[in-house]
Amino acid sequence: IIRLGQPEHSVITTCAYCGVGCAFKAEMKGNEVVNMTPWKDGKANEGHSCVKGRFAWGYATHKDRILKPMIRSKITDPWQEVSWDEAIQHTASEFRRLQANYGRDSIGGITSSRCTNEETYLVQKLVRAAFGNNNVDTCARVCHSPTGYGLKQTLGESAGTQTFKSVEKADVIMVIGANPTDGHPVFASRMKKRIREGAKLIVVDPRRIDMVKSPHVQAQHHLPLRPGTNVAMVTAMAHVIVTENLIAEDFVAERCDLKSFGEWREFVARPENSPEAVAAATGVAAADVRAAARLYARAGNAAIYYGLGVTEHSQGSTMVMGIANLAMATGNVGREGVGVNPLRGQNNVQGSCDMGSFPHELPGYRHVSDSTARSSFEAAWGVEISPEPGLRIPNMFDAALSGGFKGLYCEGEDIVQSDPNTQHVAAAMLAMECVVVQDLFLNETAKYAHVFLPGSSFLEKDGTFTNAERRISRVRKVMPAKAGLADWEVTVKLAQALGYPMAYRNPGEIMEEIAALTPTFRGVSYRKLDELGSIQWPCNDDAPEGTPTMHIDRFVRGKGKFIITQYVATDEKVTRKFPLLLTTGRILSQYNVGAQTRRTENNQWHSEDRLEIHPHDAQERGIQTDDWVGIQSRAGETVLRAEVSERMQPGVVYTTFHFPESGANVITTDNSDWATNCPEYKVTAVQVMPVMQP
Ligand code: SF4
Repeated sequence: IIRLGQPEHSVITTCAYCGVGCAFKAEMKGNEVVNMTPWKDGKANEGHSCVKGRFAWGYATHKDRILKPMIRSKITDPWQEVSWDEAIQHTASEFRRLQANYGRDSIGGITSSRCTNEETYLVQKLVRAAFGNNNVDTCARVCHSPTGYGLKQTLGESAGTQTFKSVEKADVIMVIGANPTDGHPVFASRMKKRIREGAKLIVVDPRRIDMVKSPHVQAQHHLPLRPGTNVAMVTAMAHVIVTENLIAEDFVAERCDLKSFGEWREFVARPENSPEAVAAATGVAAADVRAAARLYARAGNAAIYYGLGVTEHSQGSTMVMGIANLAMATGNVGREGVGVNPLRGQNNVQGSCDMGSFPHELPGYRHVSDSTARSSFEAAWGVEISPEPGLRIPNMFDAALSGGFKGLYCEGEDIVQSDPNTQHVAAAMLAMECVVVQDLFLNETAKYAHVFLPGSSFLEKDGTFTNAERRISRVRKVMPAKAGLADWEVTVKLAQALGYPMAYRNPGEIMEEIAALTPTFRGVSYRKLDELGSIQWPCNDDAPEGTPTMHIDRFVRGKGKFIITQYVATDEKVTRKFPLLLTTGRILSQYNVGAQTRRTENNQWHSEDRLEIHPHDAQERGIQTDDWVGIQSRAGETVLRAEVSERMQPGVVYTTFHFPESGANVITTDNSDWATNCPEYKVTAVQVMPVMQP
């Protein structure tokens, strides 16, 4: 524990990094944090934290914070500090000019999973009510949008099914495309404890992550599949379950749609879907797939936890549905110890989706074409809402390049660093006439901005975050907004400057409006959150204290629906020119694009991104650990230092993406999920060669 003095008072709040959503006690002396202690009564973390959360306050008080609004006419001009009023009036007048010249749909907004529910709700309201279109999207587009789509199709609700605590009842844990030790450390500890107590572990991942074999846990089965072959793998597991009569017949008969089940059973039983038939594509021995499928299906309670290694593929949504199929077929839904559990990368991915920051959905996942849902918002907001979905983030970039999209309000998201194919994103930014960035720092996106509005850190926010287990927790302000206005106040003032009468006295009033208009949040209030500590939605008259486990007696959609998961190989093929596959992930001490963690103590433990490469591939190229290597893909090229590692399989290389200078997304491509446009970050064909130090 680092203590910078004796605290005078403390405030309970929520970590602003990953989707575990740990509760912390911020110990304060005046307006200064002297320590952050994990809160023992926090239901998501029970008094634990990781090295990211412990030091998070470092970035909030960092000298790089921009605390004055700034404007400039061209991105080559120097920034000019202005008052809040001037910056907001300037933004409003630029947006109105663009709409007058290029049409109502020529502007849009992007919000972030780092924003609170209340802030996100306001951004989508700003776009729908003040901009007058549905051009709003969230960074969940590039991470878990396939989860939202896939789980809604199969189970009926775009969310994980369990509590974190539920893992304590699991007999078999299957981790697919996730690295909980680095990405979700506090929950990883909970999983490992259960494994040490006797639960069996299956890991499906191209890389030999820590959980495969460490001093603490060892997996019974590691299926090190080739990147891009998830759907072949999950369908092969289903083949084993169907052909070896491991179906939970009673559960399926009672709870599932039998027509879709019959079609799915016939499909997965085909010989071409057997583990033997797909072994050449997946690279995994059929016997291992069969053994893992049997272990999962025969368990008393089997739980699946998955991450971006599932969603960030051209078949991300198909894979999510494949996972739901497995759980339904084996009866592993609707009680503790089982379920389908997405591990959300960012603190409020779940909430940003719940709050309607999608171009096709209003808060509560109701499609904009649903006239009943639309009319309730129209009555409350006093505007008409278009029944047509707006532009997704990649569509905004494409529209900017073809001349139809000219202005962007971007709150809390560094799209230039975090979205794939940086060259394409940068060209789109250059094509816009007014880019407004609201953030803590002058990030990569701000290089293309005409207006910079200072954001507020989690320590300056009042509101709520919703974690990966649907748990809504309070974020409490421990110090005044350093730039004078909190993020929600900026959005309100912008709406007013645009002529829309948005008005709230505090974020609690925003939550009251959310609860009134969103059936799954109807019983949520700050008073109840203070009483209960946190609430898992749905929370309404049927479940006044929330819903820890979903789909207990029936699926939200009624009968669980099986979906055919036809494997389609990605377009991103290896060739003689690009013979290796690059995949990406995170490391314990850094968080996403690193804008926050690079400005904390965490930087001392991991100060650069590296390329992990198997000894065989390294030897072929004359590469040793610490050598500089050039990585070239069809999209671009970058330079990193190498780390020769047995964690990799031959033919596959890996890097993290925490540093802008490494430019991981300079080399990722435009391929994306067929249903949601979530980018295929996890599969890029590359060549790697030694180079001189840059
Ligand atoms: Fe908890 Fe995640 Fe924050 Fe770590 S980063 S303290 S696991 S919420």
